Amino acid sequence: MNNWYNINMRTTGIYIHIPFCKQACSYCDFYFETSLKHRDGFTEKLIEEIYHYGQSAFAEMQVSTIYFGGGTPSRLHSEEWTKIMSALHKNFTISPNAECTAEVNPEDITSKYLSGLYDSGINRLSIGIQSFMPSILEFMNRAHGSEAAERALLHISNSKFDNWTADLIYGNPNQSLEEFKADVYKLLEFKPKHISAYSLTVEPNTRLGSWVRKKKVVPQDDENVANQQQWLSDYLESQGFSHYEVSNFAKPGFESVHNSSYWNHVNYLGLGPSAHSFMWEENSTSAKRWKNVSLLRDYMELNPTKIIQYEEHLSLKTLAEERIMTGLRTKKGLTIGELSDRYNYNIGEKQHAYVKLLIQNGYISGEDGGIALTKKGLLIADTIILELISRQEDVPVLNKQH
Ligand code: SF4
Repeated sequence: MNNWYNINMRTTGIYIHIPFCKQACSYCDFYFETSLKHRDGFTEKLIEEIYHYGQSAFAEMQVSTIYFGGGTPSRLHSEEWTKIMSALHKNFTISPNAECTAEVNPEDITSKYLSGLYDSGINRLSIGIQSFMPSILEFMNRAHGSEAAERALLHISNSKFDNWTADLIYGNPNQSLEEFKADVYKLLEFKPKHISAYSLTVEPNTRLGSWVRKKKVVPQDDENVANQQQWLSDYLESQGFSHYEVSNFAKPGFESVHNSSYWNHVNYLGLGPSAHSFMWEENSTSAKRWKNVSLLRDYMELNPTKIIQYEEHLSLKTLAEERIMTGLRTKKGLTIGELSDRYNYNIGEKQHAYVKLLIQNGYISGEDGGIALTKKGLLIADTIILELISRQEDVPVLNKQH
């Protein structure tokens, strides 16, 4: 039995999906409801699901992270946070140092609300700012304006939350580099320890997708988006942040543990409508991933034993490819040894040749069997990753012994 077996089976994260939003952002294709039709009783249903999994293998593991995402978790009332966190503590072994994050939106933040969240056991916030520019917020159909964003950040700065992150979106149509810089400078006035920045993606089933199809909106030029991304990386690094993943920046010690767990195939239990879960199988030679029913209506009606919409089994080869995808998007990268020991995945000759070429051209740094994209490589991470995976020859999978 090797060390990976113990690591795979010992720890878990918990993700909780809160599917309510005040209004629909124009670019968003996450699952959420703006109607209040099924709002009553949601917390009780979620707690029922928590108790259900309190009888599962997850209850044997140490919970290292809890993450409330959505939707907009800050649509929950203070008493609901207390009830949900208390149910989690009753059913799982939560590490005393567990990172417990709640996504919040500016329109819901008051100092009283933050105190309630903190008292319930949440110790990290992730606030969706996206931009401070009124015209961009209006284009995004965000529920908050720039003043509400600043007010919420001020409340957070004056609260007990030391560990918080803010989301920004760049590459918006017509957004100049100078306008994006103004957003970043404004955010830094509030001294965040972590920032997630994403380029605007046009998803087909969104209002933005329809505007683009009808040519009412022209997406930003690729070169301008790349310039904003490059500037952001350089600037935040000059301000003491580490660009530790393609979209994530942190001051030392403030990297997101929860996200790092996803990238590293730590087990996680997803609760709530449309939430995904991931768990290694007993012998660590495969894993499974499953998803809860998407619709809130179905989630509310079904017994927790019936809410899984689909389940898939993942081979070690699929897991290895996922690990290459997530690992190479991080500054830390991954090691060839990890791929062979944990996933029984051997880098083939064509892949070795490709890695060598990337090292020669400054896209990868490769030391002591580790491979990590350089700053230059991170800018085209997805292209490099797909090319590297596609060069895998069919190496026979050997019998894995633990
Ligand atoms: S608040 Fe978040 S989840 Fe809700 S619509 Fe906007 S982007 Fe989507």
